[in-house]
Amino acid sequence: MAWLQWKVSEFKLLLGTKNPGKVKEAKRILSSIDEDIEILSFHDRDFPEVEETGKSYLENSLKKARTISGQTGLPVMSDDSGLEVVALNGAPGIHSSRFAGPDSSDDENLKLLLDKLEDVRDRRARFITIATLFISTEERYVSRGVLDGRIVENPRGNSGFGYDPVFVPEGYGKTLAQLGEKEKNRISHRKKALEKIKRELRGILRERNR
Ligand code: IMP
Repeated sequence: MAWLQWKVSEFKLLLGTKNPGKVKEAKRILSSIDEDIEILSFHDRDFPEVEETGKSYLENSLKKARTISGQTGLPVMSDDSGLEVVALNGAPGIHSSRFAGPDSSDDENLKLLLDKLEDVRDRRARFITIATLFISTEERYVSRGVLDGRIVENPRGNSGFGYDPVFVPEGYGKTLAQLGEKEKNRISHRKKALEKIKRELRGILRERNR
């Protein structure tokens, strides 16, 4: 792989997602990495959307990272995430981004979720992220992050994306959309998964740089 010959200071990592909310969060979370790496997104290097045909977060996360790395020749970090609601037997789960239909918007998905939970007392839910760092078939790392919480009855707040306006993390009184980017990025499922990838990447780069 060509990148093996690169100096660490030239290491580029492409974020394998077209979701601007995810890009913003991942850039924030990975920005504190002390190695000198450049984080690229679809704004810098375009790639086609990867269809999520897998039956699990892991399959989708791996497929996205592997496919985009193959298309661009770059190391890629992708995540597959979802919201799991206890009273809905884990739905929307891996279908979170298209809960209300193939091209549904965040607002449509959120509305459908609240409709399904009307008059439901058990509001427990969790967010899950499975992140994959794909460097080559032999060198890939997977991590998981979870955030427990509950679904409120009416959307509150403007920050974040997806189901943030209806999700209150355990131990909090505000939705993720009210807590704001900084607090969300301190406690989120994505933060937990990406922190592990970050540690892995740091180790790889230090090893290579010896
Ligand atoms: P995917 O990982 O691209 O399949 O999509 C994940 C979907 O889950 C998003 O489109 C959102 O609907 C939802 N989701 C994942 N992470 C978050 C989050 O941090 N906040 C709110 N919604 C999220």
